[in-house]
Amino acid sequence: MISLNHNIYNLRRSGIRRYTNLARAVGGCVMLTIGEPDFDTPAPIKAAAGAALSQNRTHYAPNQGTAELCREIAAFESRRGLPTKAEEVLVTAGATEALFTALLGILNPGEEVIIPTPAFPLYESIVLMAGAKPVFLDTKPLVFQLTEEALAAAITPKTKAIVLNSPNNPTGAILSEKSLSAVKKAILGKDIFLICDNVYQGLSRESCPDLSLDGDLREQTLVCQSFSKPYAMTGWRVGYLRGPEYVMEKLLLLHAAQVAAIPTFLQDACVEALGVATTEMADTYARRREFVCRRLTEMGLSYPQPKGAFYIFPDISRFGLSDEDFCTQMIQSARVAAVPGSCFGCPGHIRISYCCSDELLAEGLNRVEAFLKSLEASVC
Ligand code: PMP
Repeated sequence: MISLNHNIYNLRRSGIRRYTNLARAVGGCVMLTIGEPDFDTPAPIKAAAGAALSQNRTHYAPNQGTAELCREIAAFESRRGLPTKAEEVLVTAGATEALFTALLGILNPGEEVIIPTPAFPLYESIVLMAGAKPVFLDTKPLVFQLTEEALAAAITPKTKAIVLNSPNNPTGAILSEKSLSAVKKAILGKDIFLICDNVYQGLSRESCPDLSLDGDLREQTLVCQSFSKPYAMTGWRVGYLRGPEYVMEKLLLLHAAQVAAIPTFLQDACVEALGVATTEMADTYARRREFVCRRLTEMGLSYPQPKGAFYIFPDISRFGLSDEDFCTQMIQSARVAAVPGSCFGCPGHIRISYCCSDELLAEGLNRVEAFLKSLEASVC
């Protein structure tokens, strides 16, 4: 066997997909594992893609993105609160590539990235692939927030970036103003990048404090955004990066080297997407969120208060099983699937996603309840 890039041996298969596959193999399961909208892409967005195809918008786009989409994204970002120029935008293959391009583009081997956990596992994979070091900051003792003391303890002379994800996958929690000012205090004026993974922001009905809008941090902030979640476009693979020009002109070269450009007709459809209201989907998730919270509370489970995204992260540690055994047994004996918290660096919890119909969700939660009762009965 010929050896590969040494860093590639540190990558692991996504636990989210592993448990989804296990549930599929067992059959008859209600899947509460899936982290993607159960809605179809809104019709005007699909129509715009169709129209672009019939106009033969099938040739290479500029590496950065089409002029129109970059302009519209800049306008969209400006409306969020920080004036943004088209030159500060890069259209990427989803937030996945935005994160990859951002982290690979800024990291040198041995540098450190602070990842508050629980966290989406992609950050760790990219940091490892760059030969850099993930520094996990466990937020569970901080009630899933951040403090000045915890950040000060995590920062070293090698710290190059911190990744924030609010609303969070897997908890659905939102970082408070206090947490964000602790982050600002920790990094302002230092050679540390703030990477804001904002993919769930567009679906939040609650106001979501956002450090990426702070002008003082502008020269050190990179925003990763996606069309996947707010517009139910996960399979389209379009997202973007926003950052200061001196960084973006370099990240453009990295993006050009690995992706060249995002398909032109998809970008035309994304221009349309930016004008589509997401309130109906956000309302649906908010309604389901209330229902799930009520049901889990009835079952006696505690969880960080979810305020956005479409996940909830109950604590199952009192049942005396590891979160992985808990999820495996729940699939096998109760036919309902969730993802173990250890896949997000937070054992003792499970992630439940409510991206399914009200009926399926109700049935799935009934099965969770029956499973908990069977565990309690076996403990007694
Ligand atoms: N960040 C987070 C927190 C996510 O949950 C996801 C997708 N599950 C992504 C980034 C990647 O999204 P995309 O589909 O845009 O690549």
